[in-house]
Amino acid sequence: MAALLIVTGMLSSLSFATVHQTPPRTNTIRTIVVDPGHNGTFHGTHGLISKEEDVTLEIGLKLGEAIKKAFPDIKVVYTRTTDATVGGATTLKDDLHNRADIANQAKGDLFISIHCDATPQPAGGYYAKRVIGHKRKLEYVGRGKRKRKKWVMAPIYESYWVKNMRIGASTYIWKAEKTTDKVNAINHTDEGDGEIQDSTVDWDTESPEAKIRAQLYEQKYFKKSAIFAAMVEDEFQKTGRTTLGVLQRDKGIQVLQATGMPSVLIETGYLTNKEEEEYLNSDEGQNEVVKNIVDALSRYKDQLETGKTSVNALPDSLNQR
Ligand SMILES: [Zn+2]
Repeated sequence: MAALLIVTGMLSSLSFATVHQTPPRTNTIRTIVVDPGHNGTFHGTHGLISKEEDVTLEIGLKLGEAIKKAFPDIKVVYTRTTDATVGGATTLKDDLHNRADIANQAKGDLFISIHCDATPQPAGGYYAKRVIGHKRKLEYVGRGKRKRKKWVMAPIYESYWVKNMRIGASTYIWKAEKTTDKVNAINHTDEGDGEIQDSTVDWDTESPEAKIRAQLYEQKYFKKSAIFAAMVEDEFQKTGRTTLGVLQRDKGIQVLQATGMPSVLIETGYLTNKEEEEYLNSDEGQNEVVKNIVDALSRYKDQLETGKTSVNALPDSLNQR
């Protein structure tokens, strides 16, 4: 009996040791935070038939479900699942802060914010004027006693319909100050204004806490964010979507900076283009966008766990970091 106890004790201490000798899998993804942009109070942009906050919620919820299905071990946390502000926020600033808080409290390993883009021009299209010729016209020139009639050449205008053509998906990562030189290769000018609302927020970037967070992001999360972003864009492109690439912006996407984890903001397409808006509102389009993101996630997860890269789209300047 005593011997048996000793053996049992040895076995259990062995198995205990075995469990603890297995190296911790630090490079795996346990929790993903899905952030459907905007809400019914702090609106995003809109198209002819839809509002950004509705489209981002639909895609966000579908994305969460698809992640759970593809990777049952991964926990999905949403920043919102309804039209209401996040955490009952009464200001946009608090709404965005609450999103970051949810992500940080969940100890997320990846933050995916879903948005839709827009041009400054009206959704669908607009009428513009052009000169198609001139005609002689009698006009009064001069003032008072010097006033006289004069023949002038007046332009003849024609109004014409301009279709809003801009389309494409882009994936944003936050632009940490020190990264600027090294990642010029992925710096593009951002012409979209889909996030104008966000950029009006007076976000605190000068506090010691914010600076530490920026440093952390630079050291730990920037490269992972860039790799995942490049994979997302790659998947969009493979599907045949127009892609605008991995972009950086320092203003307007501070929610990415406030999350202590790799984070991206995906502009899934332009609501101001009639066809792209219809695509983003259709089941088929939403499912395709979700599939693209999940496929990118699968590649990203593989890379973290095996160390093998599958991104060709990533500029050399980023691979060297
Ligand atoms: Zn947005």
